[in-house]
Parts: sequence; C-alpha cells; structure tokens
Amino acid sequence: MKIWANSGDSHLVEPDDLFTTSLPAELADRMPRSVKDDDGTHETLYVDGQEIRRRMPRGAAALKDDQGLSVYERAPGANDMVQRLFDLDGEGIWAELVFPSIGIWMSSIQDPKLLSAGCAAINDWAIEYQRYSERYVCTATIPLLDAEHGVAEVHRAAGLGFKAAYLSVTPGLGALDWNYDIWEPLWAALEETGLVIAFHIGTEAHDASTMHGAYFRGPGGALINYMETTYGGQRAITKMISSGVFDRHPGLKAMVSEGGATWGPFVADRLDEAYRQHSSMVRPQLRRLPSEYLYENVYASFQHDRSAVQAMTAMGWRNVCWGSDYPHIEGTFGHTQKTLHELFDGVDEASVRRMTVGTFEELFPHVPPAPANGTE
Ligand code: MN
Repeated sequence: MKIWANSGDSHLVEPDDLFTTSLPAELADRMPRSVKDDDGTHETLYVDGQEIRRRMPRGAAALKDDQGLSVYERAPGANDMVQRLFDLDGEGIWAELVFPSIGIWMSSIQDPKLLSAGCAAINDWAIEYQRYSERYVCTATIPLLDAEHGVAEVHRAAGLGFKAAYLSVTPGLGALDWNYDIWEPLWAALEETGLVIAFHIGTEAHDASTMHGAYFRGPGGALINYMETTYGGQRAITKMISSGVFDRHPGLKAMVSEGGATWGPFVADRLDEAYRQHSSMVRPQLRRLPSEYLYENVYASFQHDRSAVQAMTAMGWRNVCWGSDYPHIEGTFGHTQKTLHELFDGVDEASVRRMTVGTFEELFPHVPPAPANGTE
C-alpha cells in the first residue's frame, strides 16, 4: 500500500546562473560556486575570495550512489519545479520543507551587504517554486552576520509569502552565538511574522582555515565526519533553550532537519538534570523546565533512522517528522516507499499519521492535505 508523507527536509538545486542573472557582476563573482573534480570525489567551493577544498559534497551532482548514478540521473526533477512534482508523486512525497543547496554556503560570506544581496537573490528565485505549488514550502535564506540584516530579510521574506526561515546552525563568521542578546530582534521578528525556524544540520559557518580543523582525518573519517555534521542542530537548540529564547518567545517553533530524532528526548533530559542539579549557577532562570520547550517548541526530521520512530512512540516527543532529503544522496529518492514501510509497518496508526503528515501540517497549516494512503 502506498504511504503518502510530507517531507521535513528537502532541497532546491539552484541553477548555475542564479547569481549572474540576478546580481551585478561584482557581487555575483563573489557568491558561492562549486566546481567538481572530474572523478566526483572532491569539489572546490569558491566563496567570496576563499577556496574551500572538500570531499563528499553534500548533495552535489558529482556524487554517485551505489548504482553509479548522480542525483540528477536519479531525480530528474531535482532542478525543475514542474518535473519535481512527478518525482514526488512517484515516491509518495506530498509537501516538502525545501532548503537551498549551494545557498547553505552563504554562511561562509563575511561581508554583510554581499550576504544580504545573495540571500535576497536566492529567496526571490525560491519563492517561485512556492508560487507554482503549495506542496513546496520553501525556506527563506536569512543573512546572519548581524541581527539588523537578518531582521530585514525576515520581514521581506514574510512579505513574499515564505512560511519558514532557513537558519544555519551557527550564526555567520565572527558573530556572537545564538545564546547572546544581540539576536533578540531576530527572534522577535520570527515570532511576529510566524515564520518557522528551519535549521539544517551540517551548516556551520566555515572559512577556508576553519574548514580543515572542523573535519577529521584518518581511519573511519567518512563516518566520523558524517556524525560530526549531526551535532550542530542539537547545539543550536541547546543554546536557544538555555538562554531563554523560547521563554521570551513562546510562539517560536524551530525545526532541526536531517539530524534524526532521538537526540530530542536525550537533550531534554540532560538539560533538565543540569537545570535542577546546578540550579545555583543557572543564568537566566527559566519559567519552565528546559524539556518543556524542547518537547513543545522544537521539531525534528529524520529520513532512515529506525530509532526516530521510538522518539515518539516510546519517549513521547510528538514533534517528530519524516523527511526525504530529496534529491540528496543521503535521502530516500528511489526507495522512499520501501523506507516508509520499513519504518512504519506495525506502528500504531495515530503515530504513523503524526510522523508522516500531522507534524508537518501543524507547522504549515496552509498546505493542502496529502492523499489518502493507498491512492496513487
Ligand atoms: Mn537535507
């Protein structure tokens, strides 16, 4: 039986000429650009004069799967808003929370004006997807070197019709972290506009020097580095809860995409223990236990994780949402139905419904309902 699911984690693939067609040449030249090696194992990212060499491009076209197919060969709709819906229909994916791809590297830009121009260019392009179909819930890319530019783009994005704001898991290079007061206007703007905060794991701001220090080498490197990309979402949420962001802005909702789900109850327990046992050192004091914010204001999407289902059914965290990561190689394209059945067969119907469609609908109530399971 076909299972239909909304996806809390998908990606647009920006066209190569996005910046050159939308920005003056002197700005376009400094925007993130990826050049892949012929063998597909490495790429060089050019971001505002920096060259970042790296292995394992996240979702890059050159990366091949087990059958030797690139994401474009696997997912013909990866960069086509019309064809993409046919891909989704075939997979049983209904609506998607859609992040940028190359836009994830915007966090490595260090010039606030350049960054704002680039984010606006991405957002003006991305919103056309959402205008084409309500099944695309696009995330607005927010410039995060300072609150002032961030707030301006949050308001502009809300005006364009965005329902979600993509935030990298750390603010821009050199900026104070999420637990500092300088971000207060950003949280206020997000709460006021009702935009859902959408963190995506693996989006820490890097420059060419920190990039090398941030990655592990040696035996096991591929697995070690994949794990390492996971922690950033947990750190961002920890900083927001601990510094009282949700205390002051109870209307905020924050999704962490692609990072699994069992970390939620785990982080909640750790924070509660610290809050009780170290209470004399806790600043600021919170109105409620840390876990209450995590269970209510925070959401998570997972794609293959077997344990994620138990985060809801056994640990009681209701804000768990499945995600496809379409069209990235970590995702489920080509085997979505197999994955959904492996995850959800034998699980009670209410929990399945919550994880496949309900959590997403709670965040984005404007999205039309998914077809009934079993229909094409
Ligand atoms: Mn993803």
